[in-house]
Amino acid sequence: MSLVYIISAPSGSGKSTLVNELRKIDPRLHFSISYTTRPPRGSEQNGREYFFVSRAEFEAMIRQQQFLEYAEVFGNYYGTARRFLEEAERNGCDLLLDIDVQGAEQIKQKIPHAVSIFVMPPDRKTLEERLKNRSLDTEGVIQRRLVTASREIENYHKYDYILVNDRLKDSIEALKAIVLSERLQHSGANLSEDQSECLQKAAQCRLDNVQERVQPILASFVTPAAQGGTT
Ligand code: ADP
Ligand code: 5GP
Repeated sequence: MSLVYIISAPSGSGKSTLVNELRKIDPRLHFSISYTTRPPRGSEQNGREYFFVSRAEFEAMIRQQQFLEYAEVFGNYYGTARRFLEEAERNGCDLLLDIDVQGAEQIKQKIPHAVSIFVMPPDRKTLEERLKNRSLDTEGVIQRRLVTASREIENYHKYDYILVNDRLKDSIEALKAIVLSERLQHSGANLSEDQSECLQKAAQCRLDNVQERVQPILASFVTPAAQGGTT
């Protein structure tokens, strides 16, 4: 049975950076390429970042039940094709889905053993700096992304693991540990000492164990405007 890992994050948290690192070191992990109706951005290529399709094509795929899940995000459709899971299963691989919170909820309903990971920035200011340093967006787009991030972050409690992406090296280690520890737990094998350490590292990111760490992050996203202030 293939394991399914879901990863979600507000834009700019470092999700792509982390996923790219994980893909380099874990050949057993297949990456699902979503279908979307949004147009390609920058250097994106059809079949690499996404399959770019028209609304009519996407709706035909919905009718043909080709999607494991789909959702409308920022006015565009995004969906995970069933065939990626079927292919992963045929090849004895696990599957990684980079999808939003609506998609994560649908997958959890259909595949209860799916493992969900929410990546968070250490605070709002750091997220703003990362979005600025990435130099992909205008100031207006960055401010909109920050507002969206405040809403997205409130969904953190729907995920199994929370990864606060502070120091990149630590975050990569933690992500690796989560993936490996889930595999170990599903394999039922006896654990070596190294493997027990891996389980412990992953456990530190479990939702129940991060509540204290998460509260100041949530607080940093509560702006005076969001609290009903006038500034
Ligand atoms: P996302 O995919 O979540 O939108 P990116 O992976 O594009 O985010 O990361 C946003 C920016 O932050 C990029 O410039 C990336 O190099 C940088 N970045 C990612 N993780 C870290 C980190 N832990 N510390 C500092 N900068 C980071
Ligand atoms: P972007 O347009 O910036 O690449 O992605 C916008 C949002 O859509 C991100 O939160 C991303 O995780 C989400 N997304 C990408 N692919 C899918 C998908 O197949 N299904 C769902 N539900 N969300 C997706």
